[in-house]
Amino acid sequence: MQSRWNDADARQCVERLAGHGEDLALRVYTSRLIGSDPDLVLHGGGNTSVKTSVRDRFGRGVEVLCVKGSGSDLAAVEPHGLPALRLDALRELRPLPVLGDDDMVAALRSALLEPFAPNPSVETLLHAFLPHRFVDHTHADAILAITDQPDGERHVKAALGNDVPVLPWVMPGFRLAKAVAELFDRQPKCRGIVLLKHGLFTFGDSAKESYERTIALVDAAERYVAARAPRPAMLQPSPSVLPAAERRALLLQALPMLRGCLAVQEGAVEGPEEGILRTVRVVADARSGDDVAAFAAHRDARALCATGPITPDHVIRTKGPYLFLTRAEAADPAASRRRMREFVADYQRYHREVAPRYGNPQMRLPRPCVAVLEGCGLAAFGESRRAARIAADIAEHSLRVKAQAQALGRYEPLTEVELFEMEYWPLELKKLGSHDLRALPGQVALVTGAAGAIGCATAAILLEHGACVCLVDIDGDRLAKAQRLLQEDWGSDQTHMLAVTADLTDPAQVERAFADCVLAFGGVDIVVPNAGIGHVSRLEDMEPARFARLLEVNTTGTMLVLKAAAKVLRAQGSGGSVIVQASKNTFAPGAGFGAYSASKAAALQLGRIAALEFAEFGVAVNMVNADAVFGDGEVPSQFWEQVGPDRMRARGLDPAGLREFYRQRTLLKTAVLPRHVAEAVLFFASQRTPTTGAVLPVDGGLPAAFPR
Ligand SMILES: [Zn+2]
Repeated sequence: MQSRWNDADARQCVERLAGHGEDLALRVYTSRLIGSDPDLVLHGGGNTSVKTSVRDRFGRGVEVLCVKGSGSDLAAVEPHGLPALRLDALRELRPLPVLGDDDMVAALRSALLEPFAPNPSVETLLHAFLPHRFVDHTHADAILAITDQPDGERHVKAALGNDVPVLPWVMPGFRLAKAVAELFDRQPKCRGIVLLKHGLFTFGDSAKESYERTIALVDAAERYVAARAPRPAMLQPSPSVLPAAERRALLLQALPMLRGCLAVQEGAVEGPEEGILRTVRVVADARSGDDVAAFAAHRDARALCATGPITPDHVIRTKGPYLFLTRAEAADPAASRRRMREFVADYQRYHREVAPRYGNPQMRLPRPCVAVLEGCGLAAFGESRRAARIAADIAEHSLRVKAQAQALGRYEPLTEVELFEMEYWPLELKKLGSHDLRALPGQVALVTGAAGAIGCATAAILLEHGACVCLVDIDGDRLAKAQRLLQEDWGSDQTHMLAVTADLTDPAQVERAFADCVLAFGGVDIVVPNAGIGHVSRLEDMEPARFARLLEVNTTGTMLVLKAAAKVLRAQGSGGSVIVQASKNTFAPGAGFGAYSASKAAALQLGRIAALEFAEFGVAVNMVNADAVFGDGEVPSQFWEQVGPDRMRARGLDPAGLREFYRQRTLLKTAVLPRHVAEAVLFFASQRTPTTGAVLPVDGGLPAAFPR
């Protein structure tokens, strides 16, 4: 590992943050260097601090500790992410024999200069009790590979020398802060301190010195591992590693099944949804790179998946053990479910045995966060895409570290009892944030015709309510534009979106769109066959080829999407919802709209058939009949681009006149907007009523089109 310190960049950071003083600016600079190296810390792990002086309201100088806020990410930290605390108020805590968590949090908050600053790191006192101006704490992979060992201390001495003292596992918080300070007092010339099975602290009088000590020590650990275990057996190619195409095939088969097993029905107990039974789902993030696949193919993989995390910091994101499935199990629903039940039983046993030592905290959901598939890769699960990604990143690093540790000696993490305290530490759990009370977190939707007015509005509303959305459209350029709009103008979460260009009249392309969705998110729960085209022609003038084209897109396209959806939904076995975008014309056709009305009526009939058939695996299928949805300036309706000119000619109207004509003919005298249609989709997608086979008109009220 090499230092990435760069004088010009450091100077630039000092200039950019001129109002904050050089100390804090350089603290931001090296914190970001550390945070952006996944071999040092991952996603909000690690913490850094600087001791400096600031002026209070009266202009008096105050000595403060600026320390990372709890759970924030070093990679993108800014000065406000390093709240300032009065140093004397922190240091005077050291002589106390004990300090409970609540008292510690209260003491930290009352030492904050700004009352509304974020909560400072749980390691704040450790930073405060050390005398150095700069202190850096990381969970570097190489340090963990040498310390997650039965004889970790011996490896540290051999790798880093005698001027880096070692502390056995101590629970973070006040106890650890005191232990580190006492160790430092005994060896004040040390370059850093290693916490066995946890990580590394370095310090210095300048930002550069402290940062470069971290790099030097991690580099020494990396060299030590490389010299003794240059090619960890668990990361080497072998005949039992599946070729890339077979990894993909296995993931396609296993992911929906695993997602289905992980879905649980529960009644919401808080918020506006109170009392409504809903299925709580997770999103998957799968990795099948060569390292992960090699690890998963090794004969020790199952045993190592059952071991705890490489640093206890990870336990809230990934739990301790990972679920391991052989290839045969991963391809067999019954076997997967059996393994899943065993995992749950084991987690319940762990909780039952250890919880009484720590005040019997309520058990977290006992399901696995990470599954490893033999010879293939891993999948991590979370209620949001972000949570799944964090767990997957951690799992990828963890498998590599476990392989290195195993090659060096024997991987040995914390005991279950030690780990439990960290997993159920309220200060750690706080980092996970509060429960997402929106309608669709953890759900995956696939919307066709997503670049059009209704499709784009539908995607927006599903994203807004927490779902991940696979946007499918035949027109790649329009799709890119819709995606940009969703992201930039409407603020949708970009990690929750996947854009797939596909022609829905081609069975292979429809299959591929669903495969892409499964590989990206783990499956699908909400399917919205929405793509459609229009054409105006009286029967006596009808070109057979145009008629056939409408049937192909509006009817066959819907059938192919329903067919591909059924395969994934059945494999998941956890229910779901299909909402077919039909049309007011299915009940109230219009002259000149033969091709459109007939092809959409067939699509509606397919939806009703799907309601009959998909009930077998718990999926509701409903239809939305919209009318005269023109779209807005940013996403015009393609349908009205196709049929609008003819309608205007037929009625002798300009564009505004045409809109007004359609508004006036509704009972409610209202214009129908894409957002209105999207609301109807959301209603069915959130499954608030046990309804299937229904048609909901969104047309402002047209008696001729009342469902029947
Ligand atoms: Zn730590």
